[in-house]
Amino acid sequence: MTANSRCSAAESPGLETQRREIESLLRECELRAGESWYVVDRRWFDQWKEFVETGDQNSTSFPGQIDNAELFEDLDSYHLKDRLVEDEDFVLVPAEAWHKLLSWYGMVDDQPPLERKVVDLPSTLKVEVYPIEIFLCLHSNMENAVTTKFSRTDSIHSIQRAMCQAFSVPPGSECRLWMKSSDSSCERLRNVHMSVLDACLSSGMTVIMETRNADGTWPSSRPQIMRNSVEEQDSYRGQPGVCGLTNLGNTCFMNSALQCLSNTPPLTEYFLQNSYVDELNFTNPLGMKGEIAEAYADVIKQMWSGRHYSVVPRVFKTKVGHFASQFLGYQQHDSQELLSFLLDGLHEDLNRVKNKEYIELRDADGRQDQEVAEEAWRNHLRRNDSVIVDTFHGLFKSTLVCPECHKVSVTFDPFCYLSVPLPVSKERVMEVFFVSLDPYAKPVQHRVVVPKAGKVSDLCSALSEMTSVPPTQMVVADVFNHRFYKIYNMGESLSAILDRDDIFVYELSVLEEQPEEQVLLALYLRERSHYRDYGSGGGSYGTSLFGHPLLLNVPRSSCSQEALYNLFLQRLARYVRLPDPSEELEEEEEDDEEELYKTQTNGISDGINLYFLVLRSDAAFRFMLSYTYLFGSCSQSSGPAGADQNEEDKQEEACSPSPPANEHPAKRRACHVRRKRLFSIQAVNSNGTTERGMGEGGSAVSFSSQPYVAIDWEPDMKKRFYNENEAEKYVKHASMEVPQQHMTVQLQQCIELFTTVETLEEENPWYCPVCKKHQLSTKKLDLWSLPEVLIIHLKRFSYTKFTREKLDSIVEFPLRDLDFSGFLLRKTLSSEEPPSRYDLIAVSNHYGGLRDGHYTTYAKNKDNGQWYYFDDSKVTYATEDQIVTNAAYVLFYQRQDKIRKPTLPAPNTVLHNNHTKPQSSLSTSGAQTSVNSTAAV
Ligand SMILES: [Zn+2]
Repeated sequence: MTANSRCSAAESPGLETQRREIESLLRECELRAGESWYVVDRRWFDQWKEFVETGDQNSTSFPGQIDNAELFEDLDSYHLKDRLVEDEDFVLVPAEAWHKLLSWYGMVDDQPPLERKVVDLPSTLKVEVYPIEIFLCLHSNMENAVTTKFSRTDSIHSIQRAMCQAFSVPPGSECRLWMKSSDSSCERLRNVHMSVLDACLSSGMTVIMETRNADGTWPSSRPQIMRNSVEEQDSYRGQPGVCGLTNLGNTCFMNSALQCLSNTPPLTEYFLQNSYVDELNFTNPLGMKGEIAEAYADVIKQMWSGRHYSVVPRVFKTKVGHFASQFLGYQQHDSQELLSFLLDGLHEDLNRVKNKEYIELRDADGRQDQEVAEEAWRNHLRRNDSVIVDTFHGLFKSTLVCPECHKVSVTFDPFCYLSVPLPVSKERVMEVFFVSLDPYAKPVQHRVVVPKAGKVSDLCSALSEMTSVPPTQMVVADVFNHRFYKIYNMGESLSAILDRDDIFVYELSVLEEQPEEQVLLALYLRERSHYRDYGSGGGSYGTSLFGHPLLLNVPRSSCSQEALYNLFLQRLARYVRLPDPSEELEEEEEDDEEELYKTQTNGISDGINLYFLVLRSDAAFRFMLSYTYLFGSCSQSSGPAGADQNEEDKQEEACSPSPPANEHPAKRRACHVRRKRLFSIQAVNSNGTTERGMGEGGSAVSFSSQPYVAIDWEPDMKKRFYNENEAEKYVKHASMEVPQQHMTVQLQQCIELFTTVETLEEENPWYCPVCKKHQLSTKKLDLWSLPEVLIIHLKRFSYTKFTREKLDSIVEFPLRDLDFSGFLLRKTLSSEEPPSRYDLIAVSNHYGGLRDGHYTTYAKNKDNGQWYYFDDSKVTYATEDQIVTNAAYVLFYQRQDKIRKPTLPAPNTVLHNNHTKPQSSLSTSGAQTSVNSTAAV
């Protein structure tokens, strides 16, 4: 343009024409964002104006070539001088005017044209004379910075493009940008669609670019994969996607959900192909500013790099916890809950709808289903449009009918997964211990089947069939910590008994007495501690419970100390040895304690028996038990003394257990011939403790409710006569050997249940617009359209008002050809519509009970079609026959028309599978020894 500029000028129109054309362009041209204007030196422009106004082609006022030299700092960099002022130092001309001037006058050699853009800055349009000048460099080579100018309205993406070009980054590389301020703090430029102005980039700042490593990590982040040596990382080239996830402490629920999603082909390809980058939604108030999506992308990229045996999803976990406080800690959670949260979070982070409009939902009002469904789906897409919607969202029809006015309300609602109920078994398997009357028989563990809604009597009846003991001779109790946590009545509901409770059923003896003449005695075993505390009241010695308690019925007529002692000895005969006569003699000298008691127990006759006391207060009962025992054997030699002592006195003594010391030494000597007993008998409360003042002040617990007694052992006596080993023994009934029958149901049954008419519960009524009040309407759900990937959540955790249980039925689900056409309400599918046949692609498993448990995953690799078993960091081959178990919890199905054939041959698993070790370990985190030689498939 420079060489022939003179010539151009020569061919230019007349001066008057020039003046008119340029002036009208300057007058009429408005600033429009994005258009170019040009900076021209004011002196040259003034000269030109004078030239055209004088109208003399040969005038000395000829301006010559356009020359902006005065505007530059120097003529090497052509860097514009700072703080130039418009209309003093330069003028701005619109592009058309510039091009005319240039064509007429040309430009001084090598000067670059000063093209500047009109930018739409907040509240004003301006020609951006001074663009922002930024230093660009790579993370891997920060020394080599390139200076480049950008407009304030340029997007971060254009900086990224410029950098890729400047540093010859291979196309397709995934990049991240960071901006470094002069104070050298770094901030991630997350939103590539953001403008330079909005990102607060200003001249002099540095933008650093990093590209994702081949193993899925970023150079700027500290190694998340680690633990494996550098060599291993470099060498390992496993099948992409076959990668464990390290458990970060009860995070197997998260790992299981991630493995299912990772093996959902359309979602993983979306991330691996970087389609997510352009769809990150940073402004969605319902989203997480793109952070969940990016953290998820990082995990997926690492898992599918083929470089890792196992990935540590720490950043992902932190992000999840950051946005959903219920997942913050490391306590066990539900993989289904996390899945639901994650699908929602990913959807909002990737929602292509930036501004959600408000859409009022219309009731069907008798319109055709087809019309209402299409409207509902259209409305859904107007607010929700993302890869998650594309992949997982379907539509179901919900029909509510008011029981009063019969108003029918039809709505079509999108769903992300189907939560299908399991048929609830009406029966229940219980494991209980049966304790026979035969003292030499060990307790027997039985497995019985009872009605779930049954009563305790049903349990006894079921047990009766195995033991031939009539249910009337049984009593059922919950044993906890060596005592009775609860003794059940026959009429009580079995739902009060939890599976984890230790249930003992005791056989009772048949007594000739009338029932009201019998006492059901609860018997505890206690060991005395050596420590004695006379001063502080309560029990005169410390005790601790041990062994198994017993329940036995006793005729009231034989509740004397002597009788009870002998009865107990007989019942405990299997593990309590009787002393031989020589041993008894050795025990003749008594210890202090017994002496002390004896000094004050005179006057209580052995003849006083329990029967006499049962109608009295509990305190009296305790009193009598204690004193009749302590005095009982003595009385044989010393004889009843003071039998006329009245009841009041005895009560007083009972309530003041600190006895005066050695009041009657004579009495003690009189006792020296007494027979030493193995244990003493104490009245106790249901906790097995002797409380001071129990039953005081007339508010005594009626003895007829339930008497509890404890037999107390001196430690040395227990050691000699109580066989702990024998006491703990029990045997298993044949019913325990029969493998536990799991209820088996078909997945199709569960889907049918999902679409069964139900009546709303009282906690969740429906507001009837006709009746203008809440009604317990009927509700029916029908499937209308199904997504490409259908998630089916089996509701194994059943929480009702009365029960919480995990249903461990086997749900038989097909691995391929699951046909939904029968479940779809819309029967007339057009020919373009995909068939409703699905193949299984992943299963999240839950093992264990309600409060504990472990999650794993079966999933099929999209590239080689092989099934794998993912157990946290461990990955093993799986075969199709292993997949259907009673642990299956969340199922992932993909519609057949969307399934692509594996691009790789299936690995030769025969090499790895054998009968003794059906699943060979492919990978583990860390421990290299457990990575077997066939690790690299
Ligand atoms: Zn109504």
